[in-house]
Amino acid sequence: MTILSDPKTVSESSARAPDARTLEATPGVLTIDLDAIAANWKTLESRAIPAECAAVVKADAYGCGLPQVTHRLVAAGCKTFFVATLDEAKAARAAAPKAAIYVLDGFFSNCGDAFAKIDARPVIGDLGELAEWDVFRRTSGWIGSAAIQIDTGMHRLGLTPEDAQALIPRIRKGDHGISLVMSHLASAEQLGHPANARQVAAFREIASEFSGVPASLANSSGIFLGSHFHFDVVRPGAALYGVNPTPEADSPMQAVINLKVRVEQIRNVPKGETAGYGGIWTARRDSRLAIVTAGYADGYFRAASGVDGTRGAEAMVAGHRCPLAGRISMDLMTIDITDVPHGAVRRGHFVTLIGDGIGVDELAHHFGTIGYEVLTSLGRRYVRIYKGEA
Ligand SMILES: *Cc1c(COP(=O)(O)O)cnc(C)c1O
Repeated sequence: MTILSDPKTVSESSARAPDARTLEATPGVLTIDLDAIAANWKTLESRAIPAECAAVVKADAYGCGLPQVTHRLVAAGCKTFFVATLDEAKAARAAAPKAAIYVLDGFFSNCGDAFAKIDARPVIGDLGELAEWDVFRRTSGWIGSAAIQIDTGMHRLGLTPEDAQALIPRIRKGDHGISLVMSHLASAEQLGHPANARQVAAFREIASEFSGVPASLANSSGIFLGSHFHFDVVRPGAALYGVNPTPEADSPMQAVINLKVRVEQIRNVPKGETAGYGGIWTARRDSRLAIVTAGYADGYFRAASGVDGTRGAEAMVAGHRCPLAGRISMDLMTIDITDVPHGAVRRGHFVTLIGDGIGVDELAHHFGTIGYEVLTSLGRRYVRIYKGEA
């Protein structure tokens, strides 16, 4: 069902009951399917075996909710998590008391106590940063671990391969505190990109010198580049949340997000009239428009507007795919429902903006971005429902 006349029926049977008062007034209902996330993790894990499958839950688990996602993935068997910041590491620790938690933004000398307190592991990408971490460990007596990140060509974070060579004597001596050596792929979603082969070769060379230290290279898309990209640990993020890691082929991942918003008004617009800011959408026939309660302030990018000469994004209304009509506003947008049978949709009904075949990758195309940004932009005004809570 894409239309729900009673907002209470939006709630899935296995979901945690949302606040009924908020649900009555909400402009939209965002359902996050934790079982689908767990199933996606299992899919990636089975592709990566015998490598360990970690999970990247930075940026509030790509907008899906870090505590809920982490908790669910622990139940699915995930033992290693990556976050960007210390605050995220604290939230991950609360949800995953025994897991290894790596902080991608690395170590700052005033953060030692915070790392020690939650036993988080910085991802270190600079010799100066490593020295600060060593000083903290020496002065505090804390026996923590860290990852070493090596730059194999992306030129973002990471030690140069030459700097990494300088660490090899330390690795050989043992008792070095390094629990992971890693690098990051710049173009993994492009199967034939020559940088992939260069990066995997450079990483293999340096990782082989870090004997006894587990190695990690692949993000979501890297897992699909072949087993020689897997090493000991893979680090998927986006694919867990339903973004297609193989954009050149059909997605092997399950959809995770469903977003329904409410019809505020339905109106008739005669042929030749325009709708919305700037009057840049013109009715080519006598039209019926549904005004719904979401806009660019809810993370639905204005770039997806339907204007004369450009077909914008689409929504599912009573089982029909309908195009947007006119500029997306801050809190509202307009859908051309002329082809939906009269009476099939009324004021107060819900329409589907994401789900029922409309995926985050399709929206990303209309937004002029990637599925990652669609997810991390998801609005904060919607009521959130978690399906399949662990
Ligand atoms: C974000 C991130 C990942 C996850 O990448 P996806 O493309 O979302 O799978 C893995 N490793 C590092 C270093 C990252 O920053």
